[in-house]
Amino acid sequence: MDVSPQRLDALLTETPTGLFLDGQWRQASSGARFAVKNPATEETLASVASAGAADARAAMDAAASAQDSWGRTPSRRRAEILRRGFDLVQDHAEQLALLMTLEMGKPLVQSQGEVVYGGEFLRWFSEEAVRDHGRYSDTPEGTLRMLVTRKPVGPCLLITPWNFPLAMATRKVAPALAAGCTMILKPAALTPLTMLYLTALLVEAGLPAGVLNVLPTDTPAAVSEPLLADPRLRKISFTGSTAVGKHLMRQATENVLRTSMELGGNGPLIVFEDADLDKAVAGALAAKMRNMGEACTAANRILVHESVAEEFTAKLAQRMSALKVGSGLEEGVDVGPLIDAKACASVAELVEDAVHRGAEVVLGGGVVEGPGHFFAPTLLRNVSPDSRVVKEEIFGPVAPVLTFGSEDEAVAMANATEYGLASYVFTENISRGLRIGDRIDFGLLGLNVGVISNAAAPFGGVKQSGLGREGGAEGLAEYTSTQYIGIESPWSG
Ligand code: NAD
Repeated sequence: MDVSPQRLDALLTETPTGLFLDGQWRQASSGARFAVKNPATEETLASVASAGAADARAAMDAAASAQDSWGRTPSRRRAEILRRGFDLVQDHAEQLALLMTLEMGKPLVQSQGEVVYGGEFLRWFSEEAVRDHGRYSDTPEGTLRMLVTRKPVGPCLLITPWNFPLAMATRKVAPALAAGCTMILKPAALTPLTMLYLTALLVEAGLPAGVLNVLPTDTPAAVSEPLLADPRLRKISFTGSTAVGKHLMRQATENVLRTSMELGGNGPLIVFEDADLDKAVAGALAAKMRNMGEACTAANRILVHESVAEEFTAKLAQRMSALKVGSGLEEGVDVGPLIDAKACASVAELVEDAVHRGAEVVLGGGVVEGPGHFFAPTLLRNVSPDSRVVKEEIFGPVAPVLTFGSEDEAVAMANATEYGLASYVFTENISRGLRIGDRIDFGLLGLNVGVISNAAAPFGGVKQSGLGREGGAEGLAEYTSTQYIGIESPWSG
């Protein structure tokens, strides 16, 4: 792929940097703007309009007035716009991947992977849009006919994080469009460019004005608060940290909003003594190091049976030491920069705390000198269960290895967290793998695999990892409300 400065400059010049409101690109009403930086170089990539409360109210007006006609637009027509959007994402896959690597830092090959994964939501929900049937049946007593239909929830507020700038947006936008909802999307301030580019593609695909409004801002509460207080808003779907999610849930109680929350994780990856160790090492590498560890699905704690811990750790160390760290635009790079200096400092603190409590650093251990926010792939062993690195979401390329002696102990360690998003189990005994699925409190389980996200699968967590599911048939149901009409039985007279 051409990653010359000329190509990148041309791409940044063609990428919109305004607010998208009621079918038009606009400046913020206050005139405010904020800078978007490249985490690999710390250079400014673009200056983007920063929405405030007045823009939020204008977006709400647009979404509310478009809701009726969009909700009544035949599902085939909505499906065709989604499908055209999918095709346009394929046609512009290079541009989207480059933008993601520039603003978020992940290696280009992983950005290309996200274009495939993120694009699939548009295709999947274009297929689901025309198959969202209700039912018509008799009550058991035969006294009524029941007509059960699904209607769009209504205008939605969608808030996305910076770690998967494309997929976290399409995972919400596609089912909302399929269900017939209008929306206001607020991308993360660190990575708004990918979403702004995608917005232009969806407009080209035929989205009517007011259906999708996009409000980048570096003052998120100024946008979300007036929207959450507006009785015309009917749903919030948020992906981000548990702390911010809880705060938004409190605000959402006022108007009793439908609420979907995709929050933080503290995923265990369990390696049993009967695992295929090479498979387990490959799975751990994928689950831990993909996206530099900045994934809600990341394997945060690697729990290994004591009889295979030494061999597993040696093999993982060998694979991790071969990882190339550098700018995501460079050929062959496996680990790009973390998102910002704050992220580097927080990962470093977690490693220091673990070492202070007795962990041994097998590999890496600290920040790599800049420019750019790089952290060395780090492997820790003899990690104390009291360490912060075990209790908190790491969001960096740090793999802590802990050991267990029995299945019961592994289950207890896995469940010893307030989170419940992704988990992974490696065992060649499938009955045991399925039994662990029954015993652990996680919304997702990878059995002998390290990456399981798919547009057709229901993604989501339990406990403080969230509410609701994205993807699959479940993902569409999140944007519909059920109506039941009881009809006098034609036989009653
Ligand atoms: P974050 O909570 O800081 O921000 C997420 C979004 O919320 C951003 O758009 C941000 O601008 C906005 N925001 C922040 N404060 C706000 C406020 N007061 N009012 C309204 N909006 C506000 O999270 P992040 O750092 O962007 O993302 C990392 C987190 O996201 C991690 O915890 C990760 O596990 C989680 N995540 C979860 C999933 C999932 O599917 N469960 C997927 C990706 C990321």
